[in-house]
Amino acid sequence: MPHSVTLIPGDGIGPEVSAAARRAVDATGVRIDWEVAELNSDLIIKTGVSLPPSVLESLNRTLIGLKGPVTTPIGGGFSSVNVALRKKLDLYANVRPVHSLPGIATRFQDVLIDMVIFRENTEDLYSGIEHEVVPDVVTGIKVITRVASTKIAEYAFRYAHLNGRKKVTAIHKANIMKLADGLFLRCCREVSERYPHIEYKELIVDNASMQLVMRPETFDILLLPNLYGDIVSDLAAGLVGGLGIVPGANMGDRHAVFEAVHGSAPDIAGKGIANPTAMMLSAVMMLTHMKETDAAKRLHAAIEKVYAEKKHTTGDVGGTATTEEFTNAVIAAL
Ligand code: ATP
Repeated sequence: MPHSVTLIPGDGIGPEVSAAARRAVDATGVRIDWEVAELNSDLIIKTGVSLPPSVLESLNRTLIGLKGPVTTPIGGGFSSVNVALRKKLDLYANVRPVHSLPGIATRFQDVLIDMVIFRENTEDLYSGIEHEVVPDVVTGIKVITRVASTKIAEYAFRYAHLNGRKKVTAIHKANIMKLADGLFLRCCREVSERYPHIEYKELIVDNASMQLVMRPETFDILLLPNLYGDIVSDLAAGLVGGLGIVPGANMGDRHAVFEAVHGSAPDIAGKGIANPTAMMLSAVMMLTHMKETDAAKRLHAAIEKVYAEKKHTTGDVGGTATTEEFTNAVIAAL
């Protein structure tokens, strides 16, 4: 039986990198019925809704999505598409493995960076509750709940346990936001007690940012509320070579949507030079999730081989290849 997957090409470079990822997945031999679901800013403006029902219907059927970046139109009062999707499907865990690739010239070439970031995906300052008290005075509400904090902590520790990881670091600012981040930390501590074989540490977010830049190899699993998770993910992407190579997954109890960390990159859209690695590695996570472990390993190894050879990499990581040349090289390596 083929697997059914909802493919959301998205905006900007999204259609280019998702087509590349689709070709690479098909080349593994795993049979997939791709249901293509359009979701992009033009469609949102045309239909007047951030999340057309057709996209949700498809994801409710397939339960698995491979998604390109979608830009929320500015103005017109549209709420964020990505936030809406995560809330609607309760994709509470955002998982971002940040791993060194061979052959990329970064400042950290001599150290192996191998961390996985677990970002709470549904609340915090991204709850979208903002209020103009009087003209020129605005408040934004930071929502932290026991349920969501415990769920993301449990997800991170369970992952650590199942994947032989040694340490979980919870990142917070509870010295200032005593109630909100205090609750997040309390939940992390409670969950950590159920996993005594995994080392548990806490770091304040500003210190964590410095440590990440100075000693990235000392981090293993990072556990963060939504806003810090968003910022720290991009920082971590920069350590290994940029946004073009870092994959991600939005996981719920039923649905899973895999997508790159990067946005729609309008500056390079349509030029055929975007790096599809982040989408391909997201597809590797998707194959693992589908229990197509062998195909996932082969695709991952093929991508690493192309990087190690350094002949067909894209401009963002110092090469000269086009999206298509890189994709052809990965497929040849497979
Ligand atoms: P968003 O707010 O939608 O997350 P962003 O502001 O983080 O987007 P991106 O669209 O991710 O911005 O792009 C940031 C920079 O990284 C741009 O210069 C872009 O060209 C570059 N970039 C992002 N993704 C890729 C990619 N896959 N290949 C090459 N360059 C990329």
